[in-house]
Amino acid sequence: MKEKTLVLIKPEAVQRHLIGKIISRFEDAGLKIVGMKMVWIDEEFAKKHYTEDISKRRGEFVRNKLLKYLVEGPVVAIVLEGVDAIENVRRITGSTEPKTAQPGTIRGDFAHVSYKYADDNNMAVKNIIHSSSNEEDAKNEIALWFKKNELHDYKTIQDYFF
Ligand code: ADP
Ligand code: MG
Repeated sequence: MKEKTLVLIKPEAVQRHLIGKIISRFEDAGLKIVGMKMVWIDEEFAKKHYTEDISKRRGEFVRNKLLKYLVEGPVVAIVLEGVDAIENVRRITGSTEPKTAQPGTIRGDFAHVSYKYADDNNMAVKNIIHSSSNEEDAKNEIALWFKKNELHDYKTIQDYFF
């Protein structure tokens, strides 16, 4: 099934000049960019992205670190479309902790830090990108970051193969 999902290239990845390499991973896999922009959000907006749900799953401490981290600099927000895009983008993203993320994934290839290091140093785990984790999150996150007229319906070469 064709789906849309949200990716954020997080501040440290922008600062490390990794935007192009990250986007290439998704384009190479045949995922279509249907929306893209650079934005520098404030903490109020960050709270809408990392909602209370994070506190329940990871703790209030982690959420507070994340809110600070996401506003450190601009992020690149991207909406990708493709077959099973949510699951496929998560697969290409890799697991949350860079130390255990598989090589070949974005988090496994461009970072290596552990949860322990982040916790000992009082910081969020810097893991390069965010990607939506399920259908409901994808829907809410796309609506938060993009207006309807910022998402584009057009054909790419992939549309002739799928
Ligand atoms: P994911 O980004 O893989 O969906 P979560 O949604 O659970 O993971 O967490 C959101 C973000 O919070 C992660 O991408 C990571 O940057 C950060 N994070 C998660 N767990 C921790 C932790 N124990 N310590 C510090 N930061 C964390
Ligand atoms: Mg998540």
